[in-house]
Amino acid sequence: MGKRTPGPRFESWGRYPRLQADVVPLHWTIDFPLPQRPAGKQLPVGLGRSYGDVCLLENGTLLDTTGMDRLLGFDPATGVLRCETGTSLKQILDFAVPRGLFLPVTPGTKYVTVGGAIANDIHGRNHHAAGTFGRHVLRFELTRSDGARFVCSPIENSDWFAATIGGMGLTGLMTWADIRLRPIVSRRIDYRGEKFQGLDEFFARSRAAKSEYTAAWIDCVATGRNFARGILMQGDHTQIPEPLHRSREPKLVFPADLPELALNRYSAAIFNTLHYHRQWGKTKSGRVDYEPFFYPLDAVRHWNRMYGRKGLLQFQNVLPLESGREGMLDILKAITKSGLASFQAAIQFFGAVPSVGMMSFPRPGVMLAVDFPVRGEVSFDLMERLTRITLEHGGRMYSAKDARMTPQQFQAFYPQWQEFARYVDPGFDSAYWQRVTGRRRLDD
Ligand SMILES: Cc1cc2nc3c(=O)[nH]c(=O)nc-3n(C[C@H](O)[C@H](O)[C@H](O)COP(=O)(O)OP(=O)(O)OC[C@H]3O[C@@H](n4cnc5c(N)ncnc54)[C@H](O)[C@@H]3O)c2cc1C
Repeated sequence: MGKRTPGPRFESWGRYPRLQADVVPLHWTIDFPLPQRPAGKQLPVGLGRSYGDVCLLENGTLLDTTGMDRLLGFDPATGVLRCETGTSLKQILDFAVPRGLFLPVTPGTKYVTVGGAIANDIHGRNHHAAGTFGRHVLRFELTRSDGARFVCSPIENSDWFAATIGGMGLTGLMTWADIRLRPIVSRRIDYRGEKFQGLDEFFARSRAAKSEYTAAWIDCVATGRNFARGILMQGDHTQIPEPLHRSREPKLVFPADLPELALNRYSAAIFNTLHYHRQWGKTKSGRVDYEPFFYPLDAVRHWNRMYGRKGLLQFQNVLPLESGREGMLDILKAITKSGLASFQAAIQFFGAVPSVGMMSFPRPGVMLAVDFPVRGEVSFDLMERLTRITLEHGGRMYSAKDARMTPQQFQAFYPQWQEFARYVDPGFDSAYWQRVTGRRRLDD
């Protein structure tokens, strides 16, 4: 166990809100419980790639798991990997790809830990085929703040298994986990990009899509004839065998916080137009490396500095298919009218593969994720409006991205929250949990 560090401040990816906590690095799975129990509450954290306050705890103790990053065992016959939970998905790819294996589910960045991936039960572009990350976790060890340590799986302590997958770090510290990887024969992805003009075409093209990975970039700035234009991106692992090697490290680093004015409706509109026209024809296909296909944003480290010192908010929701078209239309109109959206916006269908987690976000329907710069009241009002539309259309919001839901909204989105609360470790808490249970006020 390492020394407590009162700073530097641990930030979430959105850098909002900014809260001060002690950070205690853990190096071994036996470092927890801490020899001296802290006076306040505790919360495990990974690489801080959650956007909001799910990985924050004011005046508490953050248990930094990134030092617990060892691979503990691997069975080539089954593809099952055991690792400590501070291991990042990048480390797993470096190990797995040269051996002809890949992650079963991956988010849009490889800089997340296994603990973070399980605790938010993350999803990828293959949700319709593979479900969430938790479905590929065979078992893990959970350690509670009173020192109790037990293995959870679909057959051992299965209620703890379900509460901890998607349990936002509140049920205890996961120390190690077994994950089943999937085979590949090439680093490359057979790619197909199809432009669409408006939501109806997006829905029609998504319904017809047959690929393992399917998601779209959508223009949330353009109005008029270009309203809701975008590019549907499909991909499948190439079946032609090729030599496999690990990836190189990205060299580009976003050097400093941009001034607030740099990102505005005009710069975002220019970027979106360039991005949309980067693909000349209506469709484009080819073979691309998995890095730019899954992780285009990882090419520049600290790209969140582009949003300036005040940080960014991400709105991510899912609406059921029945109300999805109307609801997304209302949401996109509200976003374009606000002029606040950046160029980072994704829309995708979620499938019907059930999630294991009690509090998991995905459900069948249509999902939208859009980044906004924090501009005080204007951005908070917009988030509130979009959350209200989500509620009216029977959808829900993603806790991993959220920083603004009210207790009433959270409790309507996740009516099972009281059942979940029975599993929360009495020594653990988070800024998110304090907020959505009405113990922490939102700042104006
Ligand atoms: C560019 C980008 C793209 C993204 N794309 C996607 C996407 O496509 N799909 C998606 O689902 N998400 C996506 N995310 C969000 C990200 O995958 C999740 O927020 C993920 O949980 C972050 O993991 P982390 O290691 O950074 O954990 P943190 O953000 O540090 O923590 C996340 C949660 O995990 C808990 N936790 C961490 N370690 C442990 C542990 N050992 N035991 C118990 N609890 C623990 C924490 O308490 C916290 O509640 C994206 C994020 C970024 C920045």
